[in-house]
Amino acid sequence: MSKNALVASIFRPEVLALSAYHVADASGFIKLDAMENPYSWSEDFKQQWLATLKDCELNRYPDPEARQLNATIKRVNGIADEFDVLLGNGSDEIIQLLLMALPPTASVLSTTPSFVMYKQLSDCLGLRYHGVPLLADSFDLDLPAMLAVIAEHQPSVIFLAYPNNPTGNLFSESAILEIIEVSKGLVVIDEAYAPFANASFMNRLGQYENLLVMRTVSKLGLAGLRLGYIAGLPAIIEQLHKIRLPYNINVLTQASVEFALSHSEIFDQQTQAICADRALVFEQLNALDGITAYPSAANFILFKTPAGRATDIFLSLKQQGVLIKNLSPQAGLLTDCLRVTIGKPEENAAFLAALRTSLES
Ligand SMILES: *Cc1c(COP(=O)(O)O)cnc(C)c1O
Repeated sequence: MSKNALVASIFRPEVLALSAYHVADASGFIKLDAMENPYSWSEDFKQQWLATLKDCELNRYPDPEARQLNATIKRVNGIADEFDVLLGNGSDEIIQLLLMALPPTASVLSTTPSFVMYKQLSDCLGLRYHGVPLLADSFDLDLPAMLAVIAEHQPSVIFLAYPNNPTGNLFSESAILEIIEVSKGLVVIDEAYAPFANASFMNRLGQYENLLVMRTVSKLGLAGLRLGYIAGLPAIIEQLHKIRLPYNINVLTQASVEFALSHSEIFDQQTQAICADRALVFEQLNALDGITAYPSAANFILFKTPAGRATDIFLSLKQQGVLIKNLSPQAGLLTDCLRVTIGKPEENAAFLAALRTSLES
């Protein structure tokens, strides 16, 4: 049997049809491609953190319920006692768990564009994924189109990223509420960028049984630890607990997130600086001839380049040592679009200088 025939005889067609999630090698670049917090910790803060890790018992399995961290997450996010929280190895794992728990013929709904893992993981599991295009001018929800897909396909899960990745905007609150109200399935509000947005559905959990709110510590500044969480009714969260792996949050992550969240003032300062710099980069992008930047409530900005030039500009920036994200290959509303993560002031300045050079060539 040839290697190809061997592989084809073993794996599901859905898996064979997937292409791997590609992450660019960023070594040596000014890295503004992945919505990371650019700030590292002071020596003193690092020493305090290392001191807490000394007591971790690496020879023992971690607390399978991560009880202390679970309680801290609930307290820090103001999640009332009547709701439960599931922790995941990143919110990516939570999306996967939720989809794994659905019947094989279930439908999943989100927007186009939106966070790519909703579709990637749905496709992998053979679920029926529907992506409804956003409105062209505003990137807001096309409510009539969303309601039509809900009526026709009755999706088991609807994912709405709030703010949306990669467009950066907050969808209209009234449109989201209508979707939650008419949907017989679960609606997951993915608040990965909550630290940069003055908006949340967390305090509406009590209003709707089918509402789940998901967050992560990744964009806050702890992407390396891999911790996401989702809050909702205990009867729903319990089903996800049944199918997660018993020790999905390792002991170093439990201790490190606990430590970081007990010093939230440091992260508040950083996110405030990032939001202030976001306003500066937005203004400077829009001042460039041929560039249209879109308003963002996240730690990145989507911008449109002159027609047909996005890939050239992306490669020219790369040649100048600045790595951002080229979204133009995704086509549709993202044609000619690039996305830049807000970095340190000097990184933002280097990006803008490189962009000016690219536009002139
Ligand atoms: C980055 C991102 C995630 C993934 O977060 P992790 O916790 O790092 O897995 C989820 N949703 C959206 C919208 C994101 O942009």
